[in-house]
Amino acid sequence: MKKNSIIAIDGPAGSGKSTVAKEVAKKLGFLYIDTGAMYRALTLKAINKGVDFSDAGALIELSKNTDIELKESGDYLKVYLDKKDVSHKIRSMEVTTKVKLLASLKDIRENMAKLQRKLGSGSSGAVLEGRDIGTVVFPDAAYKFYLDASFEKRVERRFLELKEKGFSVSPEEIEADVRSRDVSDMTRKVAPLKKAEDAKVIDTTDMTIEEVTGKILGTVKK
Ligand code: C5P
Repeated sequence: MKKNSIIAIDGPAGSGKSTVAKEVAKKLGFLYIDTGAMYRALTLKAINKGVDFSDAGALIELSKNTDIELKESGDYLKVYLDKKDVSHKIRSMEVTTKVKLLASLKDIRENMAKLQRKLGSGSSGAVLEGRDIGTVVFPDAAYKFYLDASFEKRVERRFLELKEKGFSVSPEEIEADVRSRDVSDMTRKVAPLKKAEDAKVIDTTDMTIEEVTGKILGTVKK
């Protein structure tokens, strides 16, 4: 495997991407890029500024004047919005339910993809996880994976993840969110979530994090 390889990991909410991507990056000494966190950070800014989410022009304008940085800190990835640490705030349900509105806008996606390419290409190897990494951001990635799991399992994972982070949410709320994000992410006109033709599919429903990580490492180290 080349040292400066790009590993693309795509898939729907709750498929296990984030945990696995972080682990794979750690094992390889690669940069970990959580692209969902970037869309979430911009969404948080729009909420804080009271921007109307049906006003595409205002959202695009906001994205041009926003600074988003990802910094690894031990086992965590810190997300900075205009130099402020927003790592926790971007996981709230309000951000989670609104992010899809902004993520469906072409100009915003182009700016995000540009930033993601700069980060990935400027690194000595990176694992990027999101929805359009293998299809749009890095179509020439050295390795592409598409993670998926049953709907029930994905809802369960998201519920446990948010509970662990201290957010009070009901399983019903999570179920409704995952369902609506699936529809929005998979059917939007620009860069919809779909498996890249050359991506390796991993059904993580009955797999542990270690098993999925091992499978990916086994492929890239060959
Ligand atoms: O990965 P995460 O669940 O944090 O992503 C939050 C949302 O950001 C997704 O539901 C999707 O709407 C958007 N997103 C995207 N493209 C990416 C990453 C995330 O549209 N590459």
